[in-house]
Amino acid sequence: MTSPSPVTADARPAFDVHRAREDFPALHQLVHGKPLVYLDSAATSLKPRAVIDAVEDVYARDCANIHRAVHLLSQRATARYEEARDKVRAFLNAKSNAEVIFTRGTTEAINLVAQSFARGLLREGDEVLVTELEHHSNIVPWQIVCQQTGAKLVVTPMTDRGEVLREAFEDKLSDRTKIVALAHVSNALGTVLPVRELSELAHARGAAVLLDGAQAVSHVEVDVRALDCDFYAFSGHKLYGPTGIGVLYGKERLLEQMPPYQGGGDMIRSVTFEETIYNDLPYKFEAGTPPIASAIGLGAAIDYYRGFDQAAVHAHERAVLQYATNALESIPGVRLIGTAPGKVAALSFLMDAAHPHDVGTIVDSEGVAIRTGHHCAQPVMEHFGVAATARASLGLYNTTDDIDALVRSLYKVEELFG
Ligand code: PLP
Repeated sequence: MTSPSPVTADARPAFDVHRAREDFPALHQLVHGKPLVYLDSAATSLKPRAVIDAVEDVYARDCANIHRAVHLLSQRATARYEEARDKVRAFLNAKSNAEVIFTRGTTEAINLVAQSFARGLLREGDEVLVTELEHHSNIVPWQIVCQQTGAKLVVTPMTDRGEVLREAFEDKLSDRTKIVALAHVSNALGTVLPVRELSELAHARGAAVLLDGAQAVSHVEVDVRALDCDFYAFSGHKLYGPTGIGVLYGKERLLEQMPPYQGGGDMIRSVTFEETIYNDLPYKFEAGTPPIASAIGLGAAIDYYRGFDQAAVHAHERAVLQYATNALESIPGVRLIGTAPGKVAALSFLMDAAHPHDVGTIVDSEGVAIRTGHHCAQPVMEHFGVAATARASLGLYNTTDDIDALVRSLYKVEELFG
């Protein structure tokens, strides 16, 4: 981070977006000869210098495999890897480090639960309940396990604003529902689901609850004990951390009962050809050499992010989102997709003048990076009767100037195609 910011009463630095921007080297470059305006943080966030340095330092200084050697480098690497786990535990407010499993990302975390938890639990005719706004990563693993077990995938519909309403969810819950898998925040629409309330309803029916937190961890407060979910998955790279690292939180009681997801090194206590005794949690689920530097980088990302007053960061992002919403609504021929109250960080939109891919290409030539396509949420596209949208999504480093640049580039699209 840069030099210390003004200090607030609780001794945390106040959020100063311009100062924070200095921490992100990637922001300070020209693309197509124009200053980069990065509005694609829902796909992956940029990385602050603190994270880049932490990863580099692992390779430059503590480059060793973990958990296995007595030599000093390995001990240092192991200590840093386990410190990162501790940072994740504190960040999520999990009870113990045994509940924090490092995975490759959200996708692997959900597949782990589908195969290790759900596959043994589901019987023919049982139901797995998802919603219409899920990312493919929270659909396909459940389809696979449903095929394997004869269970059925049930879908809670969303409204035309992109909300998931309690009544619609209750309508689909049944005594056959064994697992409920919900996005905490929708990647395509920015909707924040009432996951605490929906979890409670699911638990009352005896179903286990997995929350896909890929889009939530960097935009809303996450406290797994307050949410009372059974599993929570997220990816480091959407939280200002490296790629290749993610987290599965699970209640210890459930993780204890689950068989390993993969076999290999580190997840065992002892191996003979007759029998293998598995390691304790969380190692039982971490087969093979993990992405050590990425896990340590995630720890640095959490330190970086928590170094700010979270409420101040979220308020800043909400203000930029509101500014962006007003700005886009004022452009003739622009239609917003996903208008749920309380939504965060992402604006999907369509332009009458041009296909989303053309929009993406033109705005890119102006230095503005946005996402176009189905955002790995084809059922959402189907709901709105489109194949793709353009999506601008925010990180803590975005400003209203970025939105002004987006708007100028959209007028350029209008000029060229309108
Ligand atoms: N779930 C949601 C809501 C997402 O937005 C994403 C990524 O965009 C994922 C899951 C998958 O994350 P990853 O590709 O990091 O595993």
